[in-house]
Formats: sequence, structure tokens, C-alpha cells
Amino acid sequence: MEFSRFKLNPDLLNGVQDMGYTRPTPIQEQAIPPILEGRDLSGCAQTGTGKTAAYLLPVVQLLLPKPRGTTRCLVLSPTRELAIQVDEQLVALAYYTPVRGAPVYGGVPMYPQETALRAGVDIITATPGRLLDHLRFEYLNLSTIEILILDEADRMLDMGFMPDLQRILSHLPAKRQNLLFSATLEGDVLHLTKQILHNPVHVQIGRVAPASGITHAIYPVPQKRKTDLLLALLRRTQIPSGLVFTRTRERASTLARVLRGQRLRVGVIHSGFGQPQRIDSLNSFRRGQVQLLVATDVASRGLDIDGISHVINYDVPRSPDDYIHRCGRTARQEAHGEALTFVAPEELRDLQAIERAVGHPLPRVNLPGFDYPEETADEPAGRKGRSGPGQRRHHARRKPSGGRAGSQPASAGSGPGRRRPKRRRRRKSPGTGG
Ligand code: AMP
Repeated sequence: MEFSRFKLNPDLLNGVQDMGYTRPTPIQEQAIPPILEGRDLSGCAQTGTGKTAAYLLPVVQLLLPKPRGTTRCLVLSPTRELAIQVDEQLVALAYYTPVRGAPVYGGVPMYPQETALRAGVDIITATPGRLLDHLRFEYLNLSTIEILILDEADRMLDMGFMPDLQRILSHLPAKRQNLLFSATLEGDVLHLTKQILHNPVHVQIGRVAPASGITHAIYPVPQKRKTDLLLALLRRTQIPSGLVFTRTRERASTLARVLRGQRLRVGVIHSGFGQPQRIDSLNSFRRGQVQLLVATDVASRGLDIDGISHVINYDVPRSPDDYIHRCGRTARQEAHGEALTFVAPEELRDLQAIERAVGHPLPRVNLPGFDYPEETADEPAGRKGRSGPGQRRHHARRKPSGGRAGSQPASAGSGPGRRRPKRRRRRKSPGTGG
């Protein structure tokens, strides 16, 4: 299928072409037509599937014939990084059109954002907290909003944004088009969809699972030896561009310090840093100036960086959702990537929850000198009895061969060489605040 089938404005199609998109992704195929018809929509899709363009393209098309100078669309995003990326994609896709956007997020001065809001940009992409800060002033009026988009709604609720969301909803007109995107549509998210969506079209792209181009590898390792294991892998394997996740900010900072002590080029990103520093770290990683970016889960959602060859879970994520989102940072758009997860005995329960959600066991790679005997693992009693050979096929050990750790998962030379969407030079948009 071609993008031209959607009958989008030629100026918008030029933006699509500049981005290097040749055909719509499945979520775009399914979501663009009903959004163009003005329908409400709930969308469940894997990360990296093109969901941002799936809503931006029809929204820009719908706003094109309307007069400028009024904010008509509000995109709510759980994190600053996602808000920035959505706005960047908007700038690129709407480049040849007069439709303008502004990102509104915390950690940077309010004034440039105020200027954009006063100018009445067509589309605001905001994090809830900063939007509420602006709502205290008379210059922000949300009564003109015609389209509301909740991006990564599950994440927004996980982060405790429900009260903020309800306050924002109370400022919006009752009659509007609503689009909600989420990795899951269960529990609180389901509740939210019932509250805000009217007769929605539902779009589901496969089961929520890690993108298909990812090779997974689980490295059993005692907690104290994780850094040594990482250094060993870095010596044995080509990891041109790795995103390393830790559970806490302190662990991220400490790990980054140790790695820098080994003369590695390392950036770090977590919520303890101000926004300008976070953007700097991301940009250095994007440009390849640092080889590794150590991050907490603040970076796991929505980060759109091409060419990440490895996602390394230095700590096992707390939830299967976080695992899927962390892994989704590699293997973007059908490319290949590797997800390595270091599992200490005390993290085995979290790993089992991930395997249950993914629907199958993930392959173990035991690096001699780093692994631990299974019986030391802190497993529920019921499972211990079942861990004999033949019963837990996923524990079959892969012998490291040659100079490489664990053959496939740590293959050399993967990563870059994947499709990198062409991007226009950034035009100064009135709303690129801070
Ligand atoms: P998203 O799932 O919105 O985070 O998008 C993931 C990546 O896919 C981004 O780099 C987009 O620019 C890219 N993308 C979106 N739509 C397409 C498409 N139709 N063809 C190729 N790449 C796309």
C-alpha cells in the first residue's frame, strides 16, 4: 500500500517522502483512515511501529484547511523525551505545510513556551505537569482543543499522572476527537478509555511483544560481578552503540563513573539531571560521540534513536512492560538489535514474569566465571524442583566460541547500517522552547 491512498495533502506527502517512509506501517494503515473520518480511536501497538506518524499525519491533514493562530490539538506525553520526539516528528512531517507545533515540558524555562502558546500554535505536545503550570495563567486556553491524543497512556498512569490528567480534561471542551495509544489496554487504562473515548475504533497490532528483530540473551551473573561482566562483553564483542539500563539513578551514575574510569565514552541520563543535560546526553549518543548511554527507565519509552545495536539490561526491569519498552529501543523499524539482560539470583522472579509475558523462555548465555549455579537462585520452591535437564530447555547453555561471548547474541558488527530515516534540517519553529 502507498501513502498516496490516504489522499493526504501533497505537502504532507512531501514530508513523508523526506522522512524516507515508502509505505505505511500496519498501524498507519489501520489508524489513518478512521482518524481522518473524525473517529475516536484506541491503539495498541508494539514500540517502534510508527504510531507517532499514525496519528500526526491524519491530524495535520485535518488541521490544514483550518485558520492558523488557534491551538486545536493537544498531545499528552508521559515524558519530556517523548514530547520532544513527537514535536520533532511533527516538524519534519509538516515541514512543507503551515501547521506548527510546540513542545511543552518541564525542566526548562517557561517563557519560550509561553510565547508559543500565546501565538496559538496548532498542536501542543505536552507533559501533564508543565501544561498545568501554564494553565495557571490566562494565556493558555484549552477550550479550543478539537483533538486530544494520549500517547503511552499506560505509562502516564503508571507514573501517577491520573489526577493531573483529570484536571487537564476538565479544561477541554466536551466535544472533541480523542485518540489513545498504549502498550496495554487493561486495568486503569481500560477505565480511562471508557471515560474519554466515544464509540472508538480499536486498532491492535499483534500481541504486545518486543519487536521481532531483537535477539534476546539472558546472562546469569551474581549482583557484584555485573560490572565485570559488562566490561568482559565490551572487550569480546563489538558494541558500537549500547543503551545500558539500571534500576536506580545512583546505580546509573556509579556505573557511568566506573566505565569512564576504563576510558570508555559513556553518557548518562536519568531524572536527576536537568532537561538541558538530558538533551545533551541524548544528542551525544545520537551523534555517536559516546558509545554507551547509561539510563534509568526514564529513557526506555519512546526514545527514537536509530542505530542502537545493543540494549543492555544491567538490572532486570521491574515489569514485563518495561522490558518490552527497553528492548524496543533497538531493532527499530524491523532492523536487527540485541537485548542482553544481566540476571542476579535475586532478580529471577522478575525475569520469570517477563518470560510469562513474552510467552516463551528467553535463551541463557552462561559466560564461564560469571554465572552462578542454579540451585543458588532465589526461585519459588515449586520451580526449583522442575529445573532438571530437559525440563527447562531455555537453560540450555550456549558455549562461548572463538573470542566472542555467547555467539549469536553478542554478534559483531550488528547495529548501524540499519535504515536511518532522512531528516530535514530543523526549521526554527516558534514553539521550540528551551
Ligand atoms: P514510533 O513507533 O512512532 O516511535 O516510530 C518509530 C520509528 O519509525 C521512527 O523513527 C519513525 O520515523 C519511523 N517510521 C514511522 N513510520 C514509518 C514508515 N512508514 N516507514 C519507515 N519508517 C517509519
